[in-house]
This record gives sequence, C-alpha cells and structure tokens, in this order.
Amino acid sequence: TPVPVRRALISVSDKTGLLDLARALAAHGAEILSTGGSARTLREAGIAVTEVSDHTGFPEILDGRVKTLVPQIHGGILGRRDLPAHVAQMEQHGIAPIDLVAVNLYPFEATVASGAGAEDCIENIDIGGPALIRAASKNHDHVVVLTDPAQYGAIIAALAEGGTTLEARRALAGAAYARTAAYDAAIAAWFAGQRGDVLPERLTVAGQRRESLRYGENPHQQAAFYADGSQRPGVATARQIQGKSLSYNNLNDTDAAFEAVAEFDAPAVVIVKHANPCGIATADSLSAAWDLALRCDPVSAFGGIVALNRTLDAEAAARIAAIFTEVIVAPDATEEAREILARKKNLRLLLTGALPDPAQGGVVIRSVAGGFLAQTRDNGRIVPADLKVVTQRKPTEAEMADLIFAFRVCKHVKSNAIIYAKGQATVGIGAGQMSRVDSARIAAIKGAEASHAAGLDKPLTAGSVVASDAFFPFADGLEAAIAAGATAVIQPGGSIRDDEVIAAADRAGIAMVFTGMRHFRH
Ligand code: 5GP
Repeated sequence: TPVPVRRALISVSDKTGLLDLARALAAHGAEILSTGGSARTLREAGIAVTEVSDHTGFPEILDGRVKTLVPQIHGGILGRRDLPAHVAQMEQHGIAPIDLVAVNLYPFEATVASGAGAEDCIENIDIGGPALIRAASKNHDHVVVLTDPAQYGAIIAALAEGGTTLEARRALAGAAYARTAAYDAAIAAWFAGQRGDVLPERLTVAGQRRESLRYGENPHQQAAFYADGSQRPGVATARQIQGKSLSYNNLNDTDAAFEAVAEFDAPAVVIVKHANPCGIATADSLSAAWDLALRCDPVSAFGGIVALNRTLDAEAAARIAAIFTEVIVAPDATEEAREILARKKNLRLLLTGALPDPAQGGVVIRSVAGGFLAQTRDNGRIVPADLKVVTQRKPTEAEMADLIFAFRVCKHVKSNAIIYAKGQATVGIGAGQMSRVDSARIAAIKGAEASHAAGLDKPLTAGSVVASDAFFPFADGLEAAIAAGATAVIQPGGSIRDDEVIAAADRAGIAMVFTGMRHFRH
C-alpha cells in the first residue's frame, strides 16, 4: 500500500524543480519543513513553509554548518512507525515524523571544478545533507528520499496516487547511498590531489550513469555508460546530432579515435576499427587528410569510426559520407556538413565542442579479477629535442617530421605496434601482435595491399619511416622494416641488443632515433 507524505523536509542547494515538488506536497496536505535558503525560495513563491529552526526551537548556527543536525529532525526521519517503543519515544520527546526528505548537497564537485581555493572547497563539504540523506535511506520502509531533481516527477505522480510504494522508496534509497558515496569519493579525491597523491591508499571510482546500453561488447553482456564528472571533452560530453544510439563498441572505438586525433596540431583524420586506427593522416585540410587516412587501409575503413580535430566542413563530410561509416566525431560541424550527413540516416554524428588535451593528467582504470589496476594517463609526448640519433646517418627534416608523427600514432595502436608513415600519413599499421617481427611484417603487407588498391606500382612503404612502440628486442623486426623500404626508424631503445639493432640499421644505411619513451598500449 502506498505511504502518504504528511510532513516533508526540503533542504536543497540546487533549487531546480523545487517549486513543482513543494506545490505537489502542499496540494496533498503535507507540512513542509525547510532550511534557510530553501525556505526563503518557497515563501517567495507563496508556498506555506515552516523553518527547521522554528520547528526545533534551535537556530541555524556556525554559518549554516549546523542546521538540521538535531534530534527533532533525525529522530523524525529515523523513528520506526511500526515499533510501539519508537512511536512512544518520539511522542515523549515531541518528535514529529518526517515522511519525505528532499536534499541535494552543497556543490562540492562544481566548486572544485571551478578552480576555487581550498577554503572555499572545504566550506562546500556538506555535512548535514548527507546525514539527512543517509538517515532517510536507512528508514526507507517509511520515508522517501529524493537526492536529484530528476527524481521529482515520479514522486509528484505517486503523490497523486496516494503516496509512494516500498519498491520506489527502496530504489531511491539505493540511489541516495550511491550519491553520498560519490560525493565522499570526490572529497577524498580532492584531498589526495591536494597532497599530490593521484593514486591514494584507497581509491573510489564514482560515475553518473549517462545511459543504459543495449548490451556490452557481446549481446549476452549488460552494459551502461557512466560519466565521471571530469568534463574531459569526448564521448562522455559529446552531443549526438543524428543517427541511432551508440553501442558499447561504438563508444569504445569513438573514444580511441578522438583521443588519437587530438594528438595532432594540423588538420587530422583518424579512422578506427576495433579500437585500433586503420588510417591516420594530417594535411592542409580535413578532406586531404581523409583521403590519405583512407588510403592506408580502405578495406578496414569500411564501417569505421572517424575522428577529426577541426570543425567538419562540407567537403570532408561529403567524402566521408561516400563510404559506409558508423560514427563521425569532431569538435564541431558546419551547417553545410550537417546537411550532407543528414542524408545518411544511420550515420551518427557526435560533436564535442572542444578537443581533449593530450598532455592532461588523470587516472585510467582497468578491472582485473578481484580488483582493478590504476595508472596515470599515457600523456607522454615526444618533441624533437628528446630524440637521440644513434646511427651514422641522421634523419632528414622530412623523415624527422614523419618519425614524430609515426611515434604519436604508436601511442594509440595496440602493442606490439609497428607503424609505417610517409608525408604525415600512415601507410601500414601492424597492431596487437604477440611478436614485434609479426607486427612489422603485417604492417608491410597492409602497406603493399594499400598501394595495390591505390593503383601504385611502388609500395607506399618504400621510402617511408617506421615507428615501434617499444624497443626492437632483435634485429629481425628492423630488418623486416628495412625490407619493406623504410629509410628511418624511431623506437624507444633500451634493449640489451641495441648494438645489434643499430649495426643492422647502419649496414642498411638508414637513420634511427631513440625516444627513451615507450608507448605500450594493451
Ligand atoms: P539552504 O539553501 O536551504 O539554506 O541550504 C540547503 C543546503 O544545506 C542543502 O544543500 C543541504 O544539504 C544543506 N544542509 C542541510 N542541513 C545541514 C546541516 O546541518 N549542516 C550543513 N553543513 N549543511 C546542511
């Protein structure tokens, strides 16, 4: 049977939807108790309200640090209506039952995100609010707890039906504890950050579900998409302009593509399949970059995810739309480009408003049996000054530019990664192999196929540069690259056989540079 609301406590920082909720409560005969700011908003709207301080006979003190932390309030929330002893004690102490608690907390997360100082952040740690929420959730047999304006509508509807069901109260209680847990996680993360300790002793991961997904990586797996509140531009902040909803795999691939494209300063295009790039290029325009990226592996690009690091223009949109593409993600798109893509009903267009900063810090997490691994983001980016030439021949200027390009690509390709590049475009990608020499061979084969598809008689890998995400453990991987026509090599170095590998490069007359930085990605 539905439980009616005779007395409600409202104490909210975010006043969204407050008046609708309060009017519905008042219309169904509930007495409304409220704290200072919330009470003022209600009174100004002509809604009858009792200040908590009048109800308890105790004023709000210490700049609002103590408003509701009193027995009349917590007793009224926590008392069991089904236990005579509780009912008797409440009567003895003049404690009136409270059947609904609507609280949203001081905006701690938003205060931190605004770059506020420590004192401001600490003052925005809500104390009484979480206590109210946790008390009401515990006593959900009798009390309904609202922690988010998005929940008001369903409760307003329930009030019209005579009250709330146990099922609804239980669901809201669970959501409420998730909210206070996330709130405390944000506070703990802030304290850790203040100490410069990004991987503290206890790490709580919190997220707000953005959407439920139809299924996970496979149809028999459940899945949902959560935002972590960091506002990093990308899939979690993107606006979807058109197309059906994105799948788990789409989101994962789109993320990989957008993170990769943000690495490049010139107009760039990344095409991703199964979380690996199958073509990356930069050029003077997006459409030119698209042509080069597509040339790398036109077979794999079919049904791919395309990321761009500039406002999508009409010309690029028309060329991308000419082949089957699942998703396009870009910071923005011109009106003309949007019109062109609108004709492709199934194509999803995501606009993020901004590019993520590749140099940004942060923590990335992966589940393992019984726990999770946490590490800081791979935000390493080599610049020419970091490179050490280890061969007799120095790379030419053009080779150097391509080496840096290819090594940036490496960071976004699953290990073992071998990348051939020429003219700021990939011309052969070897990804995810268990042996580096296999990746080098596969990349060369892909390069030969791409050359054939482009109607060229010379392989694109001839005169290319090659990048390796980790050192060559033996000379064989390098020799495979030399056989494919690479003239310059970039790799971290650091193998005990570096001398053999350098000797093989010198024998072939190619240039090699060491980065001293590895880009494993698994
Ligand atoms: P109002 O704008 O109504 O004055 O304050 C609403 C906010 O006060 C809500 O965010 C609520 O969580 C918080 N709050 C309610 N009671 C207490 C308390 O006793 N101590 C503190 N620090 N915050 C409280």
